[in-house]
Amino acid sequence: MASAAPRRLESYVYGAWTAGKGDGLPLLDAGTGETVALIDSKGLDFAEVLHYGRTVGGPKLRAMSFHERAAMLKALGLALMEKKEEFYAESFRTGATRADGWVDIEGGIGTMLTFASKGRRELPNTRVLTDGDVELLSKDNSFSAQHIYAPLQGVAVHINAFNFPIWGMLEKISPALLAGVPAVVKPASQTAYLTELMVRRIVETGLLPEGALQLICGSVGDLLDHVTGQDVVTFTGSAWTGRKLKAHPAVIANSVRFTMEADSLNASILGPDATPGTPEFDLFVKEVAHEMTVKAGQKCTAIRRVIAPRDHVDALVKALGDRLGKTALGLSDDEATRMGPLASLDQRTEVRARIQDLLSDAEIVAGNPDEVRVTSGNAEKGAFLNPALLYADDPFGAVKVHDVEAFGPVSTVLPYDSIEEAIGLAKLGKGSLVSSVFTDDPKVVEEVVINIAPFHGRVLVGNRRSAKTSTGHGSPLAGLVHGGPGRAGGGEEMGGMRGVKHYMQRTAVQGTPRLLSAVTGRWIEGADVQHGEHPFRKSLAELKIGDQLMTAKRQITLEDVEHFAHFTGDTFYAHMDEAAAKANPFFDDRVAHGYLIASFAAGLFVEPNPGPVLANYGVDNMRFLTPVYFGDTVQVRLTCKEINPRENADHGEVRWDCQVTNQKGEIVAQYDVLTMVAKIWPPAQA
Ligand code: NDP
Repeated sequence: MASAAPRRLESYVYGAWTAGKGDGLPLLDAGTGETVALIDSKGLDFAEVLHYGRTVGGPKLRAMSFHERAAMLKALGLALMEKKEEFYAESFRTGATRADGWVDIEGGIGTMLTFASKGRRELPNTRVLTDGDVELLSKDNSFSAQHIYAPLQGVAVHINAFNFPIWGMLEKISPALLAGVPAVVKPASQTAYLTELMVRRIVETGLLPEGALQLICGSVGDLLDHVTGQDVVTFTGSAWTGRKLKAHPAVIANSVRFTMEADSLNASILGPDATPGTPEFDLFVKEVAHEMTVKAGQKCTAIRRVIAPRDHVDALVKALGDRLGKTALGLSDDEATRMGPLASLDQRTEVRARIQDLLSDAEIVAGNPDEVRVTSGNAEKGAFLNPALLYADDPFGAVKVHDVEAFGPVSTVLPYDSIEEAIGLAKLGKGSLVSSVFTDDPKVVEEVVINIAPFHGRVLVGNRRSAKTSTGHGSPLAGLVHGGPGRAGGGEEMGGMRGVKHYMQRTAVQGTPRLLSAVTGRWIEGADVQHGEHPFRKSLAELKIGDQLMTAKRQITLEDVEHFAHFTGDTFYAHMDEAAAKANPFFDDRVAHGYLIASFAAGLFVEPNPGPVLANYGVDNMRFLTPVYFGDTVQVRLTCKEINPRENADHGEVRWDCQVTNQKGEIVAQYDVLTMVAKIWPPAQA
């Protein structure tokens, strides 16, 4: 890993790569101690950074729809994946092995691609989101309310930790950009050279609008003095720094959304049924050893507290000690290495000091953190540290093991005598990102999960059935919530489209339906309608929200119901047996099948000839509201409710409000019909 002159990191701010005016602080290779880069942000105008994001990046992003932003993220993710080997080469210098780098690099890009794909599938192709149903506020439909989410008009400031220089950036900018909010990323100095490299590659693609992403290499100076209520600040790192930033006067004065993810004393529980020799015991040993050594234990989700039945502690310590003892420590680019160095020598000093803290409650039972054996590299110049397993015999009397995060390959085994004790110990972490329980007993799972869930952002249950498919205790996933209450910071990130809403404001909008519909682009009851040509004859180029069809009427007869029942096999008594139907509290007589009504409704509203409607792909929210008796007459009102043209395709999705009424005007069925419709019709000749 010999290198030429260290490169000088630059910040990407107000549209240009900009060097700091200071000498630059050297950043050292975790494995060799060589200087990799110099970092410094002296002289940057931080107020201008925020202003630039708000005035240049924000408007450009907000002019795009969710689907356009999702397509942008997809293109960006794919372009970055093509460059992954360049990132791996730089990632070795942070102490990450190839396997560690996979989590950071491909895990990070994969997270961006997941947000892109979920954004396209789960969000409408609009610029605001609706939240929940319309609230009817007047009997005559002249005044209603709709909650909406609109993107904040500030910037997302992401202050990140050193341990995931790529994933840490991408998991946060993806939901922010998808929401339409520009980001300012401040990576932790120690590993900022890798983040800087990726931002260079991002900027070179030209895929993001100018101002959508800025990077600060080095201190953020007075940046927080300038945050407003439209900005969001997220922080990952030590609880000490996090609390300081959260209490910044501008953050407090402007009620700035502040998401914090800090030290977390995650636990893993070995179930009482998971005795030595069971698959769950073996899985537990594997998982704890893996979590201790991957990224050399520098993972916010790593298992710090190992909670096990007292009777099995000896077997567990032996199995873990054997496994950890075989971990080959060495340079991260050496294929034989199973655990690389910590991120820096300072970090090693810090972890050793925290182990000393833990020793006031616990003893070391495997591994010696002061004696380092390496298979490659220099044990003193590189920040290598042996994994260390501790044991605290009196876990309820212990204080430090529930309080001190040694951010390295260090865990403490805590014995329990009952499942209530295991739960109590997990809770002593005072709020964590994740805990896991390894058991095959549903009763244990129920008891543990219900009781520890309020203290955690995520709980993983491990057993033999999911052994091959489980994503593991330590892996945050784009679709799942990442964050935790209490000492874990009280924040929440990702969680699929929930994470996008962290960058948006929820607002209740009240008004007359026609005007509410103009805001959301969604037809609601009471908004304007247009009648004319059958809406199924219209392509997306012609179709309008509110285009409506009132169908002919159809009477439902005894013969219809008998025919439908025997044809489909649905001879449920309410349709077929008069006495039994009358005895049913909901019906006065035999009733028509709900599905018969829906089928007749389709028969009434379809336009049978080939045309722009390409397919019906389902219905949403189907409800049968009033029974239909023989002799009743039904009619359908079909209204175009929402149009989502699909990016990079020649069709889009159309949602239709479908209301079926009887001769008295009562609603007998209500649902949304979902169709694919061509953008133009007839299709252009190739
Ligand atoms: P810090 O809290 O020191 O740093 C985290 C981030 O905050 C870095 O980007 C850092 O920048 C920045 N920062 C520090 N001070 C300020 C400030 N005054 N204003 C604005 N930004 C600031 O944590 P470390 O990265 O040094 O890690 C220390 C400990 O934190 C670890 O040993 C571990 O215990 C814990 N940690 C927890 C994580 C988790 O997710 N639970 C993740 C990583 C760490 P700079 O690097 O330039 O100082």
